[in-house]
Amino acid sequence: MAGSKTHQQVDREAATPHTTPHVVIVGAGAVGVAAGLHLQLAGARVTLLDRGAPGEGATYANGAVIGEDHVVPVATPSVLTDLPRMLFNSKSPLAVRWSYLPKLTPWLWHFVKRARWSEVERVSHALRDLLEGCMASFDPLLEAAEAHDMLRKTGWLGLYETKAGFDGYQRSLEVQRRRGVRAEVIPAEELRQLEPALGASQRFHAGIYYPDVGYVSDSLGLVQVLARAFRQRGGRILREEVYDFEIGVEGPEAVLTDRGRHACDRLVIAAGAYSRTLARRLGSDPLLDTERGYSLTLPNPGVRPRMPVCSTERGQVCTPIDAGLRLAGTVELAGLDAPPDWRRADMLLENAQRWFPGVDGEGAVRWMGFRPSMPDSLPVISRSPRFANTVFAFGHGHCGLMLSARTGELVRDLTLDRPTGIDVSPFRVDRF
Ligand SMILES: Cc1cc2nc3c(=O)[nH]c(=O)nc-3n(C[C@H](O)[C@H](O)[C@H](O)COP(=O)(O)OP(=O)(O)OC[C@H]3O[C@@H](n4cnc5c(N)ncnc54)[C@H](O)[C@@H]3O)c2cc1C
Repeated sequence: MAGSKTHQQVDREAATPHTTPHVVIVGAGAVGVAAGLHLQLAGARVTLLDRGAPGEGATYANGAVIGEDHVVPVATPSVLTDLPRMLFNSKSPLAVRWSYLPKLTPWLWHFVKRARWSEVERVSHALRDLLEGCMASFDPLLEAAEAHDMLRKTGWLGLYETKAGFDGYQRSLEVQRRRGVRAEVIPAEELRQLEPALGASQRFHAGIYYPDVGYVSDSLGLVQVLARAFRQRGGRILREEVYDFEIGVEGPEAVLTDRGRHACDRLVIAAGAYSRTLARRLGSDPLLDTERGYSLTLPNPGVRPRMPVCSTERGQVCTPIDAGLRLAGTVELAGLDAPPDWRRADMLLENAQRWFPGVDGEGAVRWMGFRPSMPDSLPVISRSPRFANTVFAFGHGHCGLMLSARTGELVRDLTLDRPTGIDVSPFRVDRF
């Protein structure tokens, strides 16, 4: 950390002559740290700036799921059909703070406009390109950090309590299968063979098992070990808040923070849900908002599923992380400033008790996080249209952890002017 260094000292260090480019990354979340380490492994000098500690943003206590099956965007015709029912049920997986509606309207308008099957199909291709190999993208990072055991490929189980819920998901399942996702429908009476922690079969209609999914033993811990490896290889992580940039003829040449000024050859904005303000300073205005989500971590749950168990109907996952059972999910559209509504976290335990009878919530730790979300569920992974030395990497919504290493590879390639291997035009910052 910068500690008590003066602004001049900090600037002098970054200005020392080097042949490799100095890349400054704003944001040391899952995405920023993965990008930093990938860039460093490719030979770049990298400084990460974050106003907090690495991983303590939206990754802190998330669902920890990593997998290649998430090819269906949030906006589908089925979600639109369910919307009125969900909005007026306090226990539903979706909530809107009505006072935030005026600010949310442009985002919501584009979300609704995209909830068509033709659009789902288009987006699913782009998501598939990103998700394919997303687990393997972690390999060089985990190797650098000697932390391979943190990633566990167990598969995951989607649970359906009702026939209506299961039938409503069939079209999304077809899209997944068309994109090459492996999925197996499990009849209710066979669910306990696959996942013995579940309650009696009459509680469920069916399940869908996805073998190519897994989880990390600790989402915050993963970012922390990658940040440690980054530091050990000479990377700098400074705890500073970025508020502006100095623009030269070639684009941004320095980042201004509450503690000083950092010269940069290349700039990456990976500030999660807070990226819009920074992007605006750089002449872009992405339609980024936040889908807030909640989690409860149960230290002594008394049950340990073999794999993450998820309910699309209730928008929730239960993941057997090392610290206990992590219950995570739901969406609240309320912006970045409204206080948490902890009833939404407590609801996660009520749901889990339906699937795992006797699950113990004693000592549960609540958390709320700000998913950085675009209306089409595609992240922004894009060179700035204005400045060739600037790359944007944010807006990963529900998939920011699983896509962090893959995004890091693409950020590395865009930043170092290498070919990206996939078409990154669907992730353009100016697509809305
Ligand atoms: C309840 C819940 C469950 C989830 N479950 C999963 C899951 O199972 N799998 C999955 O893949 N994803 C999951 N997600 C989504 C995932 O957590 C996010 O997409 C991901 O954490 C986003 O990472 P990020 O690096 O873009 O943002 P962040 O982790 O938020 O990092 C951004 C960083 O930028 C810093 N920053 C912002 N502004 C500034 C500034 N001006 N100056 C300096 N620093 C700044 C912040 O301090 C922060 O550390 C879940 C999210 C939630 C809320």
